[in-house]
Amino acid sequence: MSAVQLITGLHYQTGQPVEVAVQNGLVTSIIPVDSMASFKLPYIAPGLIDLQVNGYNGIDFNDTSLTVEKVTAITQQLLAQGVTTFLPTIITNSNSNISLLLSIIANACRQSDLVRNCIGGIHLEGPFISPQDGPLGAHDKRYICAPDWELFEQWNAASGNRIKMVTLSPEWPEAVAFTRQCVSRGIIVAIGHTAATTAQIDAVADAGATMSTHLGNGTHQVLPRHPNYIWDQLADDRLSAGFIGDGFHLPASVIKVILKVKGPKVILVSDSVSLAGMPPSNYQTPVGGNVILTNDGKLHLANKPDTLAGSAKVLVQAIISLVDNKLSTMPEAINLAAINPARLLGLPQQAGLTKGAPADLILFYRHENRLQIAATYKQGVLVHQSDHHD
Ligand SMILES: [Zn+2]
Repeated sequence: MSAVQLITGLHYQTGQPVEVAVQNGLVTSIIPVDSMASFKLPYIAPGLIDLQVNGYNGIDFNDTSLTVEKVTAITQQLLAQGVTTFLPTIITNSNSNISLLLSIIANACRQSDLVRNCIGGIHLEGPFISPQDGPLGAHDKRYICAPDWELFEQWNAASGNRIKMVTLSPEWPEAVAFTRQCVSRGIIVAIGHTAATTAQIDAVADAGATMSTHLGNGTHQVLPRHPNYIWDQLADDRLSAGFIGDGFHLPASVIKVILKVKGPKVILVSDSVSLAGMPPSNYQTPVGGNVILTNDGKLHLANKPDTLAGSAKVLVQAIISLVDNKLSTMPEAINLAAINPARLLGLPQQAGLTKGAPADLILFYRHENRLQIAATYKQGVLVHQSDHHD
């Protein structure tokens, strides 16, 4: 038995001061306390879970110069941003590069308990997606192919069986059988980067697909008014909907509709790229070429300000964006990024800040336009503490 730790903060749902007792990695009690100094207390909330992380702070999960040390560093940096569980996201690439990147992440998990505990699995986004321009997004067309179970098994072996989610397009005839194979092994199938028809979407949902990846992005510029694959996925109650909440990828009206239609099945993802966390500037990138990261966190092609080059915000920033735009309250926005993804993944963290739940916790201060993470606990262990409080 480890010693009991007591953490005091304002419960993120009620704003009431509480004392949270933690022992052996679990929350053992939550007791309301009288605090004369409650205005100085940080909020306490469950740790954030990000299903889609391409990179952060200069480190790119899709760059073959990835190392075990970089995976460890990004894990620490995400903990400092309140993310206690995440899915490194490997996108479309050559067969050998996908294997290489997966094996590096697997090695990092083998070498560090903390990395292994924070990486809730790997998200393979592609290469089994649509080859059509628009749905294809920034993925490399050369490597797009039909769902192939044999190939997938090689990759999953390279990852040490850590692939937890696959984003594919139902438009491939092979998608239904492939989805069944994944689901029988506990791997989540998500629909994304797709040009699929109503019947094709219905067929993979029947086969067990349970998610839409960044619904509303990775699409054609222009769609038939109806039917189209956005309506079809919105209307399908079997599908949770991931969305990018950086304030640039979707207009507020679309986010509002997704929130209303999908309720507890909406999941906020960052889809952050390696330039997230970097200072505003002009950058050269391998995929997008010359890109600009603006002061307000928009990442776009240098010569086309309307063409986004990925998301440069992490979950805490997306949460603030939702709250500031009056799309969610603070507790709701946190649940979109903590409870709802845990439920999709089947993790005990879906219990949130309750007795018996894993002590994956964040302490944070709310400032104008931002959240400051003051401390992060992973399984009851203090893994990040910020030096100053402003
Ligand atoms: Zn994508």
